[in-house]
Amino acid sequence: MSNDKKPSTANANWRPRTQAIRSGINRAFQETSEGLFLTSSFSYDSAEQAQARFAGEDKGFIYSRYSNPTTEAFETRLATLEGASWCRGTASGMAAVTSTMLGLLSAGDHIVSSRALFGSCRYVVGELCPKLGIETSFVDGADLDAWEKAARSETKIFFLESPSNPGLQIVDIEAVAQIAHAHGAILVVDNVFASPVFQKPLALGADIVVYSATKHMDGQGRVLGGAILGNDDALLTDQLQPFLRNTGPAISPFNAWVLLKSLETMDLRVNAAADCALELATRLDGLTSSPLARVFYPFLDSHPGCEIARRQMKKGGTLITMEFDGSADVAQARAFAFLNALKLVDISNNLGDAKSIATHPRTTTHHRIGEEARLEQGVTPGLVRISVGLEDVEDLWEDFTQAFNSI
Ligand SMILES: *Cc1c(COP(=O)(O)O)cnc(C)c1O
Repeated sequence: MSNDKKPSTANANWRPRTQAIRSGINRAFQETSEGLFLTSSFSYDSAEQAQARFAGEDKGFIYSRYSNPTTEAFETRLATLEGASWCRGTASGMAAVTSTMLGLLSAGDHIVSSRALFGSCRYVVGELCPKLGIETSFVDGADLDAWEKAARSETKIFFLESPSNPGLQIVDIEAVAQIAHAHGAILVVDNVFASPVFQKPLALGADIVVYSATKHMDGQGRVLGGAILGNDDALLTDQLQPFLRNTGPAISPFNAWVLLKSLETMDLRVNAAADCALELATRLDGLTSSPLARVFYPFLDSHPGCEIARRQMKKGGTLITMEFDGSADVAQARAFAFLNALKLVDISNNLGDAKSIATHPRTTTHHRIGEEARLEQGVTPGLVRISVGLEDVEDLWEDFTQAFNSI
């Protein structure tokens, strides 16, 4: 495989929609659609070439646990969209989070993390890392003093999601990055809920961004995937790369190909879903009689983080959460009755899909972490998360209203 025709970032001046379609292309036969290199390894012209490749003197491919042409095309396209100097694809979002933590940290190091995290992220920093001698302090992500006070001389990583899954808590990324840097730590942001379309954590001062590509990037519920991106080349070459190459969280070239193709339409899909989500959230928030106690959406004036969200995000995203009213038992019964009455929207745990999805986080995605950790981050019995898809807004609204009426 020759590297002389590898227009990695085809034209750095193209705008994002063009980059999403044109960057990362490395044509072998002038094919129009990106090729899929479903191969585990690569052969060499000579023993000397094999030797040179392993020594890093010849830049070709070796083995798909290290790199693969299709995976590399996905990584290049996503890095271009994110404004990152490097990207590594992983088998899932959790492989990206776990590899970042274990690749960068050693026993004795310390993490300061926002409390409001996806259940499996909470497991990685709250249980797995401590088991390996890496301590984690959880803070209220919206409280900047708490970040400052939790930092220690051993702190290496600050970690957050904004908006968080599922409570949609907004954290001031720029302010937390400054605190992290003042303490000699780096900031890692899980940007799944915002997607690269609406929020660019690296531009706000974050050092590493992690994604579950399973969500908005695929956007059609087909494959698992993840990505780690950054601008500091030393973090990649000295720390993350050896971890990724030797422990094997590599993305399958097939999944990378699906994601590469779906990046072409991500901007259009995510913008359409976010416009629909804002409309639905506004209508839900304006209901005069409903079984809801609260509606959360980052761009609603009633959201406590609304001002920061508008500063650091282009749109409010594709997720809405709402809390049913009543005591714990009553609120959960209402949430279940609502989910069971939905005729169009699916009950599922995925998000960022073309199909709208309703989730009860307490009994599914956040089931494992225990009631105390759940309540700390607002995962109450009455909380329902809606991932808004690409259906017609009026059909979704009709489904919600008939489900409310049937409770
Ligand atoms: C889904 C999700 C992940 C994990 O991604 P997978 O691809 O399912 O492994 C991590 N963080 C957040 C915020 C998520 O929503």
